[in-house]
Amino acid sequence: MPSAYYQPLEPQASDDNDERWAIEDDDEQSSGRTERSSQYQHLHTRCYPQQLLATGDQLPSMGMAPRLRGAGTCRRSYCIMLLLIVVGVCFVGYFFVSPQSAGRGDDGAEDANGIYEPHNGKDSTTGHALNEPLHICSESPEDRRVYIQDKPRSAYAQLPVIYFVTPTYPRREQIPELKRLAYTLLHVPRLYWLVANDQERCDTFLDTLLSGFGIPYAHMASPMPSEFRKSKPAPRGVANRRAALQWLHQQNITNGVLYFGDDDNTYDLRLFSEIRQTQRVSMFPVGLIAEYAVSVPVVRDGKVVAFLDSWVAGRRWPVDMAGFAVSLAYMSQYPNVNMPYKPGYEEDLFLRSIGLRIDQIEPKGANCTEILVWHTQTKNKKSAVVRLNSEFLDGRSNLGALFQSLKLMGVASASDTEGPVAMISKNGKSKSHSFILS
Ligand code: UDP
Ligand code: MN
Repeated sequence: MPSAYYQPLEPQASDDNDERWAIEDDDEQSSGRTERSSQYQHLHTRCYPQQLLATGDQLPSMGMAPRLRGAGTCRRSYCIMLLLIVVGVCFVGYFFVSPQSAGRGDDGAEDANGIYEPHNGKDSTTGHALNEPLHICSESPEDRRVYIQDKPRSAYAQLPVIYFVTPTYPRREQIPELKRLAYTLLHVPRLYWLVANDQERCDTFLDTLLSGFGIPYAHMASPMPSEFRKSKPAPRGVANRRAALQWLHQQNITNGVLYFGDDDNTYDLRLFSEIRQTQRVSMFPVGLIAEYAVSVPVVRDGKVVAFLDSWVAGRRWPVDMAGFAVSLAYMSQYPNVNMPYKPGYEEDLFLRSIGLRIDQIEPKGANCTEILVWHTQTKNKKSAVVRLNSEFLDGRSNLGALFQSLKLMGVASASDTEGPVAMISKNGKSKSHSFILS
């Protein structure tokens, strides 16, 4: 989620700013003219004696060439100084005063209506090409679901496929969140689930879990590069999404729809019907985003005209990752598609890399009046450690198998020496472990 912590990107002229500067220029040319000439005169009078001293003359005289030359040089140097000051002020104002001007990369020409022309994605804001090693843990393109919602799977055969990209990472909430998400996705026909785990090695527990749902899926290991781990904020879920983009590229998938669906969000089933027919890029509101508890395109006469989001920070596309879907036929025209490791700017830079224009956006969710996805968050806690003697964690009770599974899921582990002693009670009274388990 974006936060005000992030710094804006390098500036670029925008429709708003161009207008603003144009007005200021006009002002300067009219009302500002007297001020500028009086300022010049002031400089000029201060200048003259210095020039006189330099030329050895006592008083300025219009008829004397050296004096005039000296005055002219002085005037010119003050003009240059003045020009430099004006340029400097404009520069400073442009970078620091106007928040709207910041963060606009040079990526697209603007026409008279303030509409950006698409570009080929090749610019400094798109970062390095997607070239990380792609590590597939397990995959199955087969849809083993017999019925989806109230129809046999075959009833949906003609629908475009939704490639649902889920970045995920090991923590104690990971498995419950993925399960909750899977039980939503089970109701969605023609969906390919790309689960990219932020971890070096393949998690076999996840392989089993994912294959068990019968949804077509690919499970990949895509760790965040170590240099970003320490940074605050870190680019969360970027390596994983990049891996999924690479998977799509390698499979040469140029049909269907791409959607970035984090593991902790809440999805309305109607979202999937809405985004499935995306022609280029569709957008829609996301609930529970930041200060306004919503991030939403502003729609007028069925067209996106602006954005309502509490964190602009110079982003041309101030949207959440869950707030848009992309046609893969459209995306495949942009070979430089990218999602750079730039916390807070992932959505913006991704959308810039595919040359999006505001007039091309397809608003969804009844012209962006309905919330079909919620940015729910789970309270993260460290994996628990419970003191429970390992000699009791065998087949004599359920606890051995249970703690083995909890450990595999990264939820909790039993220890002989660490953590609070596990409370085992009967009839409201604490009992010793050996009394119950031996
Ligand atoms: N994520 C990840 N690695 C991390 C942190 C997060 O892969 O180190 C994933 C996470 O599972 C989620 C997405 O990136 O799918 C966004 O992270 P999170 O939900 O924590 O961020 P927020 O929604 O608060 O912006
Ligand atoms: Mn989240």
